[in-house]
Amino acid sequence: MHRRVSSFHAFALAMVSVIAGEVRGEISIHTDFDGGSAKVVSIDQKAHVIRFKPGGDAARGWPCWWYFRAEGLPVGEDVTFEVMASEQPLLTDDKRKGKRVGLVVTGPDHAFMSADGSTWTQTAAGEKKPADATPPEVMSYRIKATASTLWLAWGPPFLPKDTAALAEKHASTWKPFELARSREGQSVTALRSKPAKADAPAILVLARQHAWECGGSWVCAGFIEWLASNEASAVWLREHAEIIAVPIMDVDRVLTGDGGKEGLPHDHNRDWSDAPHYPEVAAAQKLVRDLVAQQRFAVFFDLHNPGTGGRSSFFALPKEHLSAIAAERQTRFIEIAREEFKGAIPFSPITRFDGPDYSRFWQQIGKNWVHSHAAPDALKLILETVNNIPAATITGYRETGADLGRSFATYLQQEAQPKAPTK
Ligand SMILES: [Zn+2]
Repeated sequence: MHRRVSSFHAFALAMVSVIAGEVRGEISIHTDFDGGSAKVVSIDQKAHVIRFKPGGDAARGWPCWWYFRAEGLPVGEDVTFEVMASEQPLLTDDKRKGKRVGLVVTGPDHAFMSADGSTWTQTAAGEKKPADATPPEVMSYRIKATASTLWLAWGPPFLPKDTAALAEKHASTWKPFELARSREGQSVTALRSKPAKADAPAILVLARQHAWECGGSWVCAGFIEWLASNEASAVWLREHAEIIAVPIMDVDRVLTGDGGKEGLPHDHNRDWSDAPHYPEVAAAQKLVRDLVAQQRFAVFFDLHNPGTGGRSSFFALPKEHLSAIAAERQTRFIEIAREEFKGAIPFSPITRFDGPDYSRFWQQIGKNWVHSHAAPDALKLILETVNNIPAATITGYRETGADLGRSFATYLQQEAQPKAPTK
């Protein structure tokens, strides 16, 4: 009985505190918007310390993405945001099953902040605390509040509305179309450029098969913007190739702020089978098959971000034996990229081979399906753009996207040249 009274008193006190908090403008955390994700652990209203975890569900992929709006911040004072790793074990049917996504992934060296929810800048470097603990408990970002509201995220968010804005801004180059309706009823938007000639070679660029990898979408955006520019190689490429770009494949998990990677039953980039689970993967397969039937399919590019330990971007290659022509194309493209990738984010020729040692679903990885089922001679690569270095900003990602476009132009210009006659 006594216990009941106590808990009633505690409840009443809490209600008073909530009501008083509204009046005093106490710190509160909100995720009620597209892509929002956070689970508040504690808020110390006196010390201005907010402790939180990613809000995602492990059934929907790595619970590592976080993105929220803080309100009621003390203007002019320091606020400390401390992210912890999620306690949820991974449910994937692959080798990481039962493991947890650690702070090494959940707490990037720099987070991203915004005063208005649309313009993003990097925070100062976070600090792992306690510094001597293995592993440390939190990654701590100390930010001086310049307004009572602040948006904070793992990386610069990229949402379906950003795809729509790109299509509108560059309407003379890109026409949007609905690639598919997702399982959760969302429109998966693709952009298409129309070349001068109907038989032009085609390039398919995908991003965000893994929802948390927002940098891939920004690389895609940089490529989309570059193609619409006046740069000579961009003008050449849009006249001589048809390009289809999908800035967000897993729209469902991007909107709910889930990680996507290694979600159930498997993620988008483990779904390239004869019976895909996701309508957008089936639609992308159909696009590839149609373009192959028209003898126009030339390039498949899939944009990702790697784990957080890397210091330079790299390609992942198909594991399977390449035909002589595909091997020559792949080697030549990597050489071109070495020359063209001059943006702030470093690029390294180091590559990863996605085979059975990488994932038991390796044959259902997009580029591997394209290789073995549709276009064995086409160029198909994954670009893993490094995401946890100071240069991995929206500007840095866009530069990588422009460099990718320049690489496509050089590659197709070489393909278009008549081969030297053999003697
Ligand atoms: Zn990925």
